Amino acid sequence: EPGRTQYKRILLKLGGESLAEVGGFGIDQKALQGIALEIAEAKNLGVQIAIVIGGGNILRGATASNLGMERVTADYMGMLATVINAMALQSALEQAGVPTRVLTALDIRQVAEPYVRRRAIRHLEKDRIVIFAAGTGNPYFTTDTAASLRAIEIEAEVIFKATKVDGVYSADPMLDPDAVKFPELTYLEVLKKGLKVMDSTSVSLCMDNKLPMVIFNVSNQDAIKRAIMGEPIGTRVGV
Ligand code: UDP
Repeated sequence: EPGRTQYKRILLKLGGESLAEVGGFGIDQKALQGIALEIAEAKNLGVQIAIVIGGGNILRGATASNLGMERVTADYMGMLATVINAMALQSALEQAGVPTRVLTALDIRQVAEPYVRRRAIRHLEKDRIVIFAAGTGNPYFTTDTAASLRAIEIEAEVIFKATKVDGVYSADPMLDPDAVKFPELTYLEVLKKGLKVMDSTSVSLCMDNKLPMVIFNVSNQDAIKRAIMGEPIGTRVGV
């Protein structure tokens, strides 16, 4: 189905929880294989795909720190958690027939290539999926910010943020029956309304560099494919 997309190069941000059972911890083989198949099918649309994977299914620095762990150590552990997820996703993608490379912002030479921008672009041009692991490589950041940064660096046209909700709502749809979904928002509105779509560092980077983002529910059938084909799913955030 090549040519069925307006995009040439996209960045997919996957939260770590997309690899776990609903509400669960760690890596669930079924969830992992499910998401790998969706990505492999989306790849067949003929688009270059880079992925930033989170680590929240294993460890979040801020949470661990609130429970008493030293913050910077906890953040490095969170970054290492994303490397574990990246290796799992690479393995599942390659089992699904898609050549994949992991590029990491922390040096772990036995398991992944170091992040080098030109090398990432070269892999994408060779039709390999590129997984960016270890976030930005710096504590006090998130993988959402890593997604914004890498997307800008590799000149992706859009970030697709895969989540567990259908888009951005005026309030938590689980708690408030009057919550409405926004089909479209500007980054300024996200900041002003204090919407917790992504952290403010990540929002600012996208805003300053005019990079649009689509937030959608990855649990819906063919969601990644539909997002890439430009269907109006989820919430689109732009400048
Ligand atoms: N992290 C970090 N720097 C980065 C990216 C991530 O220190 O550039 C750490 C941080 O502790 C974070 C954890 O890695 O909580 C896992 O990433 P994140 O919470 O973004 O994962 P997600 O919520 O997407 O699963």
